[in-house]
Amino acid sequence: MEIGDASSADRRALGEQWMSIDRRTFLNRSAATGAVVALGGAAGAVGPAGTAQAEPGTPAGAAHRHPRRASFRVLGTTDVHGHVFNWDYFTDKEYDDAAHNDVGLAKIATLVEQARAEKGRHRTLLIDAGDIIQGTQLSYYYARVDPITGGNGKRPPKHPMALAMNHMRYDAAALGNHEFNYGIPVLRAFQEQCDFPLLAANALDATTLKPAFPPYVVKRIKVPGGPDVKVGILGLTNPGIAIWDKNNVQGKLTFPGLVEQAKVYVPKLRALGCDVVVCTDHSGLDGGTSYGDALPYPENASSLVAEQVPGIDAILVGHTHKEVASRTVVNAETGKPVVLSEPLMWGMRLSVFDFELELRHGRWQVLSVTAEVRNANTVAEDPHVARLVRKEHQAVVAYVNQVIGTCKEAMSAAEAPYRDTPVIDFINTVQAATVKAALAGTAYRDLPVLSQAACFSRTAAIPAGQVSLRDVAGLYVYENTLDARVLTGAQLKDYLEWSARYYVQTPAGTPVDLTKITNADNTPDYNYDVVSGLGYDIDIAKPAGSRITNLTFQGKPLDPAASFVLAVNNYRANGGGNFPHVAAARSIWSSSEEIRNTIIAWVKENKVIDPAAFASVDWRLTRDGVPVL
Ligand SMILES: [Zn+2]
Repeated sequence: MEIGDASSADRRALGEQWMSIDRRTFLNRSAATGAVVALGGAAGAVGPAGTAQAEPGTPAGAAHRHPRRASFRVLGTTDVHGHVFNWDYFTDKEYDDAAHNDVGLAKIATLVEQARAEKGRHRTLLIDAGDIIQGTQLSYYYARVDPITGGNGKRPPKHPMALAMNHMRYDAAALGNHEFNYGIPVLRAFQEQCDFPLLAANALDATTLKPAFPPYVVKRIKVPGGPDVKVGILGLTNPGIAIWDKNNVQGKLTFPGLVEQAKVYVPKLRALGCDVVVCTDHSGLDGGTSYGDALPYPENASSLVAEQVPGIDAILVGHTHKEVASRTVVNAETGKPVVLSEPLMWGMRLSVFDFELELRHGRWQVLSVTAEVRNANTVAEDPHVARLVRKEHQAVVAYVNQVIGTCKEAMSAAEAPYRDTPVIDFINTVQAATVKAALAGTAYRDLPVLSQAACFSRTAAIPAGQVSLRDVAGLYVYENTLDARVLTGAQLKDYLEWSARYYVQTPAGTPVDLTKITNADNTPDYNYDVVSGLGYDIDIAKPAGSRITNLTFQGKPLDPAASFVLAVNNYRANGGGNFPHVAAARSIWSSSEEIRNTIIAWVKENKVIDPAAFASVDWRLTRDGVPVL
């Protein structure tokens, strides 16, 4: 595969060449057959092997000039996040949710085989839109406990996601932002193990500005009696990686925008003779940008790519964990439709794109593209995939069920979004203690250490009695690491005000529905921070931006000029959630150890979790000063 770059003059020339061919093709089609015949003939005109069939209404004498038809299918997954089995490693049970979704590649493999059988496997491609190697204890185990990079004195294991995806014969996958969570060496080891390319046209080497991963792959669909259909698959990842995984990528990789890089590579794919161009984007359809203007490129750009980059036929969308069966966006330059589909997450859905083509002047032209999603909960798991990964699954189940300590009282995160709960205090206690210990003997040893934490999972719970690793791991589901930043009292007030945007403004005197006062403007739970070590009220009757009242430190009003150390996760510290001041604040310490592991190590060392030792109510919701709860 060629991954070099064409000069901008070349690109302009290629772009013009293809624009003119497009226009000529369009005129020919309109003149020769009429748009109605061309479009109306698309359905059902394709034989089982994709060979040409006569079109109704074509003059008999022109039989040798009948346009040939072909069709093929692209299947797509996204945001699988380490799920092979329909299993929840935190609850040690089969996965379930309110909608009774099922998860994992083992079930997706069954849907894939069905879709291949319907279409003919030689006329089907399988792609993914990224976020593959992070998200479950299964994927964590092979990144950190028995890592695929080796180092345990034996041959490095194969990653279960590589085992499953190789068996399923994926043709390509885009890189997701979470691929970078364990650092570049783990990602490179995973890449080595995959029989298919990991694509990212907008992940560049920071020094050479050359692609650090293949930008695209070209696949051929065989058509008996006709030329192959050449399908270009372009992979695009998320510019937010520069913020979210700054510690892992800074100075090594740089991430330009999706639109910018698609404008470089789509013309290149057309120049290589691709009849069809499909993008796989780790970028949502048209949601907001969670990092504000900290980067010049939007986070969720797939609709923009469709609209602004000529020459794309379809886009597999990911990153936002949404289900969108089919969305059509018209390209502003060509007026042609681009079909997008996003198959939810975790292997809950499979997108199915169907392409119909027609041979004109020796070249395949796309007549139509349709998309749908299929639900993994309608099928059984594929026994081959299940058998292939069973041993790894069992090793991880044993690992997560090991007892690491006891807890004196049950703790739950269920009410953490609106009440100061012991389980969040626990995370903050461990984080503050870790930073405090790290700063001993430094110039910062006398500064007070505060700590931030958010509710990552409302179903997280630590039982009374024996505590297993999975109970503690479930408290902290992301691979965040810990950082220590110096902030002033005034900056902390701004920080808390930003966090309090999470609440829906609710006038005093009206009934309070606890299920409706949080997540204002779709703010996710993970972007609502509690700061421990301070006392404060959040007045949700007031507009966002002026809600923090009675802000105290050690019982006295917080001094705006005083300095504090904030124990803060790397996601937040690097600008995730666009919280004020923290990204620019001085970092005085950081660790590459995951916070999850730090908490697990704390339990192993202390043996007993006693909520009475750390739980206290330091913040509350009010309305015009009157407590809500
Ligand atoms: Zn994801």
